[in-house]
Amino acid sequence: MCRAAGPVARAPNVAEGGSVEVTFWGVRGSIACPGPATNVYGGNTSCVEVQCGDAADGGGRVILDAGTGIRPLGVALLGGGAPVDADILLSHTHIDHIVGLPFFGPAYCPDSMLRLWAGHLLPERKLADALCAMMVDPLFPIPMDVMVAAKSFNDFHAGETFDLACGATVRTCALNHPNGATGYRIEQDGRAICYVTDTEHIEGTHDENILALIQGADMFIYDTTYTDEEYPGHVGWGHSTWQEGAALAEIAKVGTYVPFHHDPSHDDAAMAQIEKEAKDRFANTVVAREGLTLTF
Ligand SMILES: [Zn+2]
Ligand SMILES: [Zn+2]
Repeated sequence: MCRAAGPVARAPNVAEGGSVEVTFWGVRGSIACPGPATNVYGGNTSCVEVQCGDAADGGGRVILDAGTGIRPLGVALLGGGAPVDADILLSHTHIDHIVGLPFFGPAYCPDSMLRLWAGHLLPERKLADALCAMMVDPLFPIPMDVMVAAKSFNDFHAGETFDLACGATVRTCALNHPNGATGYRIEQDGRAICYVTDTEHIEGTHDENILALIQGADMFIYDTTYTDEEYPGHVGWGHSTWQEGAALAEIAKVGTYVPFHHDPSHDDAAMAQIEKEAKDRFANTVVAREGLTLTF
C-alpha cells in the first residue's frame, strides 16, 4: 500500500455535527498564486473534498476538480493508510482544474480506485483523451499509463443525473463558460452541496439552470472571480461576481453561500473586504479559504 512520506496535517474543522463534510484544498481560479500576500485565503487552484458519511458505513469521498489543491489532499489521504476510493467530478478541463492530477499521490497506488467524471466534452471529445493530452512529451515527462490506480473515465452530458457508488445522487447543469463547464449538486443523507464554477452571468438576468440546480441547497459554492466593479473589463471571460452569487443564493434560498475561484490578483486584504461586503449582502456567507472544513 502506498504511504505518505511525511507527517500529515488535516484541515481544521470549524463546524461539526452533520454527515457531509466539505473541505477546501484549493480556492483560486486561473493560476496558483502562493506567497505572503495570499497566506490567509490560500494560493492553490480549485479542489474541494466532500466526504459523505462514514466510509466504513458505505459513505463516499467526492473530489470536485483536480487543481493544484489536489496534491496536498493526496498527501493527507495517503497518510490515512486506507486504500483511496473516490469520485473526481471535474467542472471542466481548463488547465487550472486538472493540473494537479499528475501530482495526486493515490493515482500511483495500485489499490486506489478513482472514477473521473466530466460533462462538457461529448460528443466531439472524451475525458480520457483530454487528460492524456496534458501528460505528453514535451509538456510532461510521464504518460498517464504510469498512474497504476484503477481508473474509470465517465463522460456524460451536462444536465444529466447519475448516482455514485456510495449512493450519493449527482444532478448537473451546463454552465456559461468558454469550451463548456458543468455545475454539480451532490445529494446524500438529505443534504445538498452545490459546486458551480466556472460560469459567467448575463447582466440583468439570472441563470435559470443554476437557480434550478441550487434550489434550497445546504451549501452553494460559486465562481466569484470578479467584483461588480471589475466585471465590465472581463465580459466574455466566463466568470461571475460575488454580487451575482449573493443574488442567486437569496433567490434560491440556500443555506450557506461560499464565494470561490478567487482571482489571483485578490490578495488577503482584498479578500477580507469582499468577505465583509458579501456577508452584509447575504448573512450566511463563508468565503472559501484553504484548510476550511464545513460540516452539514
Ligand atoms: Zn477556472
Ligand atoms: Zn475555465
